[in-house]
Amino acid sequence: MKVGCPKEIKNHEYRVGLTPASVRELTSRGHQVLVQTGAGAAIGLLDEHYVAAGASMAPDAATVFAQADMIVKVKEPQPQECAMLREGQILYTYLHLAPDPAQTAALIKSGAVCIAYETVTGPGGGLPLLAPMSEVAGRMSIQAGAAHLEKSKGGMGVLLGGVPGVAPAHVVIIGAGVVGTHALQMAVGMGARVTVLDRNVDRLRQLDLVFGNRISTAYSNVQSLEESVLSADLVIGGVLIPGAAAPKLVTREMISRMKKGAVVVDVAIDQGGCFETSHATTHADPTFVVDGVVHYCVANMPGAVARTSTFALNNATIAHAVALADKGWRRALNDSPYLCAGLNVALGQLTYEAVARDLGYEY
Ligand code: NAD
Repeated sequence: MKVGCPKEIKNHEYRVGLTPASVRELTSRGHQVLVQTGAGAAIGLLDEHYVAAGASMAPDAATVFAQADMIVKVKEPQPQECAMLREGQILYTYLHLAPDPAQTAALIKSGAVCIAYETVTGPGGGLPLLAPMSEVAGRMSIQAGAAHLEKSKGGMGVLLGGVPGVAPAHVVIIGAGVVGTHALQMAVGMGARVTVLDRNVDRLRQLDLVFGNRISTAYSNVQSLEESVLSADLVIGGVLIPGAAAPKLVTREMISRMKKGAVVVDVAIDQGGCFETSHATTHADPTFVVDGVVHYCVANMPGAVARTSTFALNNATIAHAVALADKGWRRALNDSPYLCAGLNVALGQLTYEAVARDLGYEY
């Protein structure tokens, strides 16, 4: 199969669909790979690395879209990319169709076979092509929080780990899923005092087994949330209720009673946020202050570490990309119910029930 990887064109998107190592996985199995010139240059993945892995370079996206049987990307296709897709061509990327009727209509019109990373499932449950970005965001949340606790960034001037003779900062993590667990690992590693809250007691049990008395766990309810948040220096919001907006667990009133110069990092902002005072921000201007509390609410945190994010994403996506290239989409989807769950649009039909329901299509 001929596999194409265009350069991402969404604003400030530096990730790339295929790394040179992923290209090699495909070329070593006899597939041809066409990569757009400069596709990975912003993160140090140079054209010569791709050529060494066996790729051919294409001068522009139009050439990649015209020649490839399968397009591998990161972000949802932009309107000019949708216009270049053709009937039967495979598109393998993040799509996030539910809030995007225009893209959905364009993909249906294209006749392409569109597989969305975010709905591919895994044998252990969960969403394995989404998880790496939650891992990145969870780890980054502590890095971002620690930086914003510094005076120059508006924080109270506290070092996360303290020093001998001076107590460490108190980090409160709401949600013990992928984001929360990775935030917790970083916070513990930096020597902070950590409290983690969740409604899923099994998750708290697992963390307790691993981290023992280096962390405190708490069942998440109004009482425990209020007690934890009011004594926190840094609060990480990492809750998720699948398919729903994030619950506003930390109220404006709680924020007003927090320590001045404390920091909240609302990772769940892409689902509306779990702090009542949150609104989405960008890497260019990541924070705002409410009642003396610094709010960091960047909706695409992994974009800031595009190189790490690209490698993490490729680790999760390449096996299915190889299967699609080896077998073609019909047999690859037939052989794997997990990959099949990723099929959102095929040959002019919307094939994902939740998206159809949200956008009012017949299913
Ligand atoms: P996850 O499903 O692995 O974990 C969510 C956890 O929240 C679960 O353990 C669940 O039990 C818990 N939870 C639900 N209700 C709760 C409550 N009332 N109190 C405490 N805990 C509660 O999800 P995840 O992968 O960790 O993602 C968390 C959020 O981060 C999602 O909204 C995701 O979209 C978002 N995210 C944002 C970025 C970003 O750049 N901002 C990047 C990646 C993920």
